[in-house]
Amino acid sequence: MASKKICVFPGDGIGPEVVREGLSVLRVIEQAAGKRMFETEEELLGGASYDVHGVPMSRNALALARASDAVLLGAVGGPRWDPLPFAVRPERALLGLRKELGLFANLRPAVVFAPLLDASPLRRELVEGIDLMVVRELTGGIYFGEPRGVSFINGVETGINTEIYTRPEIERVARVAFELSRKRSRRVTSVDKSNVLEATELWRKVVSEVGAKEYPDVALSHMLVDNCAMQLIRNPRQFDVVVTTNLFGDILTDEASMITGSIGMLPSASIGGKVGMYEPIHGSAPDIAGKGVANPLATILSVAMMLKYSFDMPAEAARIEKAVERVLADGYRTGDIYREGEGKKVGTTEMGDRVRHAVLNQYQKR
Ligand code: NAD
Repeated sequence: MASKKICVFPGDGIGPEVVREGLSVLRVIEQAAGKRMFETEEELLGGASYDVHGVPMSRNALALARASDAVLLGAVGGPRWDPLPFAVRPERALLGLRKELGLFANLRPAVVFAPLLDASPLRRELVEGIDLMVVRELTGGIYFGEPRGVSFINGVETGINTEIYTRPEIERVARVAFELSRKRSRRVTSVDKSNVLEATELWRKVVSEVGAKEYPDVALSHMLVDNCAMQLIRNPRQFDVVVTTNLFGDILTDEASMITGSIGMLPSASIGGKVGMYEPIHGSAPDIAGKGVANPLATILSVAMMLKYSFDMPAEAARIEKAVERVLADGYRTGDIYREGEGKKVGTTEMGDRVRHAVLNQYQKR
């Protein structure tokens, strides 16, 4: 296998701290395999890029991402850059990357690790065994639809946004969800508001057609978004793969992630084009940046997703996931998931070390 080229954007705040831990897990996998498998190259992104280049994403950064097999991103943004004009805000780099790389599907798993059951705001019996995957459409819908803006219409100040989806946009994201479900339990729930919004009436029709024609082996059901928001709290275990629009996905993925307890635990993948992008769902956490206390597990699990979805290395991905579970079962906790009197509180580097050790152990046991 030729070595895989990874474009690394550590970004801002805790980004560099957690990305360092994610990358060292890859080095351990190479060590166990006894060969170089991953080539990495770093570029500035977000506020760090603005400070040096005057833009949140330089041409070099984009060119590097395009020429790589996958992108690993920490997080961007922070109060230092909040006063900047919208066009050069660090977060613009994310929208730019999604657009330029054609990343139309965002995958966010919500998994509850058994040792962290009590970190969920929901009762233990509701969350035990949750393992769901939300597929959010990422480059269409109301976030991009025209017309948009605020203007005076007939003398009245009016804000407009447009929910718009074309058949091809719906078909391609539906296929991502159906394909994923074939590697899981072959169940897809498509979420819309087809009783009120025509754009999502089309969404429901097209998802049904793709399902019936191309994926007759997958059980497809439909749910209205208001009901889905309720069901995620009432009985989250009923879901396997959930596919939905950009706006509904934005909201439902935050809800789903909260169910699992900590924002420091959850990874994500954005796919669709040639190059996939992997990042923790949390932000740059300026309040704890530089203190060595950030939880690196979301980034380490993002690296596992990269191995699974971009590099077709599911066995290595499973080893990382198992190592994370092991370390949590052994009681190691960063501050965000620590509860007084339970387990041992550790910092970013020690948590990374523990995971690397647990990954290596699995190779040695073979
Ligand atoms: P945040 O996710 O950065 O932080 C929210 C809270 O969670 C904070 O208390 C933080 O300390 C904690 N937290 C987050 N990640 C953690 C981790 N790995 N370990 C331990 N604790 C963790 O959200 P925010 O405060 O709303 O945003 C901060 C900045 O990040 C803003 O500039 C925002 O725009 C940006 N942001 C970037 C991304 C991204 O790059 N994808 C996503 C969200 C927010």
